[in-house]
This record gives sequence, C-alpha cells and structure tokens, in this order.
Amino acid sequence: MSAGPPKPLFDRAALIGIGLIGSSLAHAMRRGALAGHISGFAKSEATRAKARELGIIDTVHETAAEAVRGADLVVLCVPVGAYRDIAASIAKDLKPGAILTDVGSVKGAVVRDVAPHVPAGVHFIPGHPIAGTEQSGPEAGFAELFDNRWCILTPLPGSDLEAVEKLEAFWRALGSHVDRMSPDHHDLALAITSHLPHLIAYNIVATAADLEEVTNSEVIKYSAGGFRDFTRIAASDPIMWRDVFLNNKEAVLEMLGRFSEDLSALQRAIRWSDGEQLLALFTRAREIRRGIIAAGQDTARPDFGRRR
Ligand code: NAP
Repeated sequence: MSAGPPKPLFDRAALIGIGLIGSSLAHAMRRGALAGHISGFAKSEATRAKARELGIIDTVHETAAEAVRGADLVVLCVPVGAYRDIAASIAKDLKPGAILTDVGSVKGAVVRDVAPHVPAGVHFIPGHPIAGTEQSGPEAGFAELFDNRWCILTPLPGSDLEAVEKLEAFWRALGSHVDRMSPDHHDLALAITSHLPHLIAYNIVATAADLEEVTNSEVIKYSAGGFRDFTRIAASDPIMWRDVFLNNKEAVLEMLGRFSEDLSALQRAIRWSDGEQLLALFTRAREIRRGIIAAGQDTARPDFGRRR
C-alpha cells in the first residue's frame, strides 16, 4: 500500500494581508503543498474579491480574527504600521501552540507592537524575507519570489527552539535560505541595504521632478542614463515605505549620517579634482556589485534580473 502524499508542514495557515508578499506566500505554499488549508484576510472587499478570483486562498475572511481561528501558522503580511491593531484584534483567537510570525521590513518596532498582545502558549517569531518587487496587491504575487533569497528570523529570548526550527523548515521549503539575528541587528543591516537605498531613490526622483533647468520630459527621455533604475525602486508601495521609515528611525538616521559624510567627501574630491580618490571608490563599488552577482542575489542582465 502506498504511503500517500507527505503530510503538510501546517494543517492550517492564515495569511493576514494578501498583497505582493501574502499572495506570493500563498502561491509558494501551494507549490510546496506546505499547508492543508490556507485562510486569508485583506482590509478591502476589492482585495478579498480578487484573492477569491485568483483562487490562491482556500477561505477569505472579512476579519483577521476569523482568519486566524484554528490556524497553526499565522503570518502578518500588512504594512508594519497596522501591526499593533491587528495583533490586538487576533489575540484571543490565536490557537494555543500556534506559530505567529510576520514578513515586515523592520523588526524592533514589530516586537514592540506585537509581543505585548501574544497570549502565553503562542510562539511569536518575527521574520523578514529579503525578497520583493516594486509591485503591490494580490495580483503581483508569484511562487518563485522567495527562491534563493534570504529570510531573516529574529527569535526572542526564550523562543521555543522547536517552533523556531519548524519556521526555518517552512522558509526553506518556500525556497529560501534562513539566517537568525537580533531585531536590532536586523534593523541596522537593513537600514543600509534596503531602507537608505529607497530613501535615496525617493529623493533623487523628487529632486529631478523639481528641477527648473531640465524639463520633466527630458528627465524621462534620457532616463536610461541611470535615473530609471532609481525610479523602479521609487515606485514601491508608499504606505509600506512610510511605515518602514517611521518604525526604523534610529538606524536609518545613523546610516543617513554616515552616508552624508561620505557624500561630502565625494563632493570635496570632485571640487579638488582628486581623480585618485574617485577611482578608488568607484573600483571598490564595482567589486561589491560583482560580489552580489557571484552570490546569486542578482544577474548581470541590464534589467537587474527582476523581470519574470
Ligand atoms: P501590499 O502589496 O501593499 O499589500 C498589503 C496588504 O495589507 C493588503 O492585503 C492590504 O489590504 C493590507 N493592509 C494594508 N493596510 C492595512 C491596514 N491598515 N489594516 C489591515 N490590512 C491592511 O504590501 P506588501 O508589499 O505585500 O507588504 C506587506 C508587508 O511585507 C509589509 O510589512 C512590508 O514591510 C513587507 N515586505 C515587503 C516587501 C516588498 O518588496 N514589497 C519585501 C519584504 C517585506 P487591501 O489591499 O485590502 O488594502
């Protein structure tokens, strides 16, 4: 007699938020048969209707509390500014023994906002997949989003080891590599690798849009000179990014301070025609880019390999 298909990692998983990340999780969980049942919640009826139409969630609910009932895994996939209210609204419906995790781009503030609401017996283990695109909404998701990307888990002191290991196994089954670190370290590392680049992109687009000497049509016409790559990053979801900066102030301001100092040094090098300094810096930067490609975190294609 055949043993039948292997048992899914989780009998029932709940996705709170069905945007780019929530819907990608649904696709990837389906691909790997990682949950027996996937329930989901989105704030607007439009998103709930779209999720039903796409058929990526088994049951779509009007409240987060309904969606988490009976779930062994609950993943918060909403902008981090909404976490506190969501955590308060689901607390009494979380199943004892369940794993509560998230995908938010900051971690210290998430611990601050969610941990006080988590009932005893529920394992709260924050997480952050370092994977994304500038698209949002339920139609933006795809199963391969997490393949060969890193997911950072930031377990809390006293987190149940078995639950942490199960969550790691989940992310590996989604196609990712997994690292563990403290929430503070996460926030510092991501401030320089993700948050500051987005801030710079938003700013350079705003500066170009406000120029008087160069017209907007020229900015668009000549964008292949470098500008367009910033505009891709700057097209990311405004609410998500507002919440990231409001919730990782300290680390972003620290990195912004260092960045401004280095920018001043570049300004001085240009003013004093210090070609050697410019060459040394640009050569080092090129090596870093090559390191990213060698590590499989991007391709050398001119579209940065992000198109599907
Ligand atoms: P998204 O595509 O904009 O989707 C957000 C989802 O959250 C939607 O289902 C939305 O519902 C819901 N939502 C928004 N505001 C809410 C509120 N106040 N209360 C309840 N639900 C709310 O966003 P996303 O890109 O998937 O981002 C989700 C999370 O993933 C964020 O915490 C972000 O930091 C993190 N993250 C994003 C990326 C990325 O590249 N995008 C990468 C890694 C991690 P409606 O559609 O009904 O409004």
